[in-house]
Amino acid sequence: MRSVRISGILETIGRVHVGSGNAEANFEGSESVLIRIKMGNIDLPYIPGSSLKGIFRSSIEFILKSLGIYTCMLARRSSCSEISKEISYATRDKNVEKIRHEINNLCIACKIFGGLSYSSNVTLYDCIPIDLAAVKFDTAPGIAINRIDGTTMGGGIFTVEHINPGSFFNFQIKIDNLPNYLIGLLFNVIYLINKNVILIGGKKRAGLGQVKILIDKIEVKKLEDSDVIDYKSLIDHPSETFKISSISGGNGVDRDVIFNLTELKQKSREEFSQALINNFMEVWSKFVETKKN
Ligand SMILES: [Zn+2]
Repeated sequence: MRSVRISGILETIGRVHVGSGNAEANFEGSESVLIRIKMGNIDLPYIPGSSLKGIFRSSIEFILKSLGIYTCMLARRSSCSEISKEISYATRDKNVEKIRHEINNLCIACKIFGGLSYSSNVTLYDCIPIDLAAVKFDTAPGIAINRIDGTTMGGGIFTVEHINPGSFFNFQIKIDNLPNYLIGLLFNVIYLINKNVILIGGKKRAGLGQVKILIDKIEVKKLEDSDVIDYKSLIDHPSETFKISSISGGNGVDRDVIFNLTELKQKSREEFSQALINNFMEVWSKFVETKKN
């Protein structure tokens, strides 16, 4: 039993639109509003964890496919849907050994995010504004699409509400019982988000959705103990290194992630975040290499 909690800040670099879900409004006279959450007495825009989870899953499926690593893409007649049935039988029979064996056979995307009878090992929390003044938002006109033939209509206007650049949200992700190399794959998605290869929310074709995620804390909780590496209290950390041990049962492919705290203490907050991302991504790269050989 191991739980890894990664937290930091999500900053909007460009305009971002995460809609309230009531119909994608692209037509004349319509408006596309932001999803909101109540904070104090006001409703502020936020980024739901569920929408981030969708982005992480589809990005990971894309990465796996591009590397030639099998992923079932949640196809109905995939090996994972067969394995899911076996897991639900084994769960009914309380056959822990069989459950563990079957989970090992799931594709990587299902191992991380779950499938039909197997729940997700990853929780992406709602990104809510870090405080009441941290988020600015606005509306802008879009170009309306003809409802009938999909062409643009001259002068047709609908409005899109968006979060402005320079807004700040809390970011948090919890990962249960996954090996370090799969945490590395999740970090790979964060890396691609920061490179703006992966965009957040809607209206991506209009160039919206650029964000940056800064990681400043990793907390590792096991049954017997817990350990934390935190940019804010790094100076006070008693040891020279911080080690996140590999998870056993990874067929020997998993590796420890070790941070040199003496080096990290010299770094800016940005560099610190980058170092955490790089170290985990390296474990993922090493895993990919072993797959190729
Ligand atoms: Zn699968």
